[in-house]
Amino acid sequence: MFLYNTLTKKVEDFKPINPPKVGVYACGPTVYDYAHLGHMRKYVGDDILVRTLKYVGFEPKLVMNITDVGHLTSDADTGEDKMEKGAQKHGLNVWDLANKFTQQFFDSTTALNVKPPDIVCKATDHIPEQIELIKKLEVKGYTYKTDDGIYFNTSKFSGYDKLSGMKLNKLKEGARVETNPQKKNQTDFALWKFTPSGVRRQMEWPSPWGKGFPGWHIECSSMSMKYLGEQFDIHTGGIDHVPIHHTNEIAQSEAATGKIPFVRYWVHHAFLSVDGQKMSKSLDNLFTVADVTKKGINPLALRYLYLTTHYRKTLNFTWKGLAAARRGLERLTESVRRFQTDQQRLSLSPEKLKKIDAYRQEFDTAISSDLDLPQALAIAWEVVKSNIPSTDKYDLLRDFDSVFGLNLAQTTSQVEVLPESLEKLVKQRDSLRLAGDFTGADKIRQKLLQLGFVIEDTPTGTKVKKGKETNETLS
Ligand code: AMP
Ligand code: ZN
Repeated sequence: MFLYNTLTKKVEDFKPINPPKVGVYACGPTVYDYAHLGHMRKYVGDDILVRTLKYVGFEPKLVMNITDVGHLTSDADTGEDKMEKGAQKHGLNVWDLANKFTQQFFDSTTALNVKPPDIVCKATDHIPEQIELIKKLEVKGYTYKTDDGIYFNTSKFSGYDKLSGMKLNKLKEGARVETNPQKKNQTDFALWKFTPSGVRRQMEWPSPWGKGFPGWHIECSSMSMKYLGEQFDIHTGGIDHVPIHHTNEIAQSEAATGKIPFVRYWVHHAFLSVDGQKMSKSLDNLFTVADVTKKGINPLALRYLYLTTHYRKTLNFTWKGLAAARRGLERLTESVRRFQTDQQRLSLSPEKLKKIDAYRQEFDTAISSDLDLPQALAIAWEVVKSNIPSTDKYDLLRDFDSVFGLNLAQTTSQVEVLPESLEKLVKQRDSLRLAGDFTGADKIRQKLLQLGFVIEDTPTGTKVKKGKETNETLS
C-alpha cells in the first residue's frame, strides 16, 4: 500500500510500526457550530482510509478527538474562544453546546455510513494528561510564561518547519496580526492560557501555573500518545492543519518524548470548496447533511460525490454536481440489485475467470495507490458493463463496496427490489418533494399505499417496503 506523506512530500510504501496493527489518529471537529459538508469530506476520507487498510489486510485502530475547549478564533492564540462565542450565539452553556454539536456531527457521519472510530476522546475529559505533558516540556526547558499563558518556545526545537517546509519567516508572515507582544518568537504557541483576572469562564481548570484552560494543540498530542503510544503510524487532518496545528503537535510531542518521528505518515485532505472558497463556518457558505436530506437526496449520494475526486484535490461543491452523483449512485445500486437477484452460477471459461481476477487486482492497485478512489469507482463501472456473469459481478461489487461504503448490496429485507413502474412513482414523488409540492407527493404516497407499499423518508434516503402504514412510518 502506498500513501502520500506530507512529512517527506513523497508517495511512500506504507510500513506500520507493528504490522498488521496500524494506529491512526484523526483530528476531530471543534463542536461549536454545525458540522458541514466540508467536514464530512474529511471524515468520509478517514473512513475510506481505514476501510482500505482493512481491505488490504491491516488491523487499524482509529482514535478521533472532539475539540470542546481551547480553540481560539485566531491561530496566534488570541481572539475569542470558539466555544464561548458559539455558546452565546446559540443561547446555550458551553457544555450543552458541545453535546448538541457532537451529536449533530455523529448524526451526519452516520448518515454518510462512516464507521465510528474505535476511540472518541474529548479534550475536556483529558485535562490532567495535558497538564502532565506541559509539565514535561517545562522540565526540559521548552516553555516560558507571559501575562496570558504558558508558551512553547519554538526556537528551542530544531526542525520546526519540517512538516510545512516553510521557512520560519514565511510562517511568521502567514500568522494573523493580533499577537501577544511578550511572545519570544512569532511561531511560539500557547500550551496553557490563564483565565484573565476578573473574568469567570464557563470552562476553566486549576493548574500548577494558575486557573485557565489548555491551548488547542496540546490536546491532540496528549490524547494521541495516550491511546496510540508515543510514536504511531498515521495522523490525518485537513490541509489547513499543516502549517500550525500539526507543526505544533510535532514540536511539542517530539520535544517531550525525545522520540522522532512522533508520527510516521501525515495524511492531509484537500478542501471542499464553494465558488472557489473553502466551505467554512467563518465564511458562512456552508451546507449540512440535513440540508441534503431536506431536499429528498440520499446522503450517500454525497459520499459518492466525494469518491469521484481524489482526496488531495480540491472538490468544488455544487447542487448540480450532487445531482449527477445521485444519478451515478442510483444507477450503480440498481445494477448491483439486479445482479443480486440474478443468482445463476455458471461454470466459467478460463478467459472469464482471468478477467474477474484482473478486475480484483486492478481495484487493489487503485485503492493501494494513495487511495485512488476515482479510479476504483471507474473499475466498478467497468465490472458493471463487462460480460462476466451477474453472480461474479455481484461478488466483486459487494467486495469493492466494503471500501466504498455506499451500501450497494443491501439485503432485500432492508430494501425491497421494486418493479420499474413503482420506482418511477418513487422518483416522481422525490422530484415533487424537492420542488416543494407536498400535496402532489402525498397523492403518490397514497397511490403506493393502495398498491401495498409503504414509503419511509429516512436520513439515508427514501425507503420503500411492502406493507401497511403504521404510526412510525407516518412522520
Ligand atoms: P474544525 O471543526 O474546524 O476543527 O475542522 C475539523 C476538520 O475538518 C479539520 O481537519 C479541517 O481541516 C476539516 N475541514 C474543515 N472545513 C473543511 C472543508 N471545507 N473541506 C475539507 N475539510 C474541512
Ligand atoms: Zn488535532
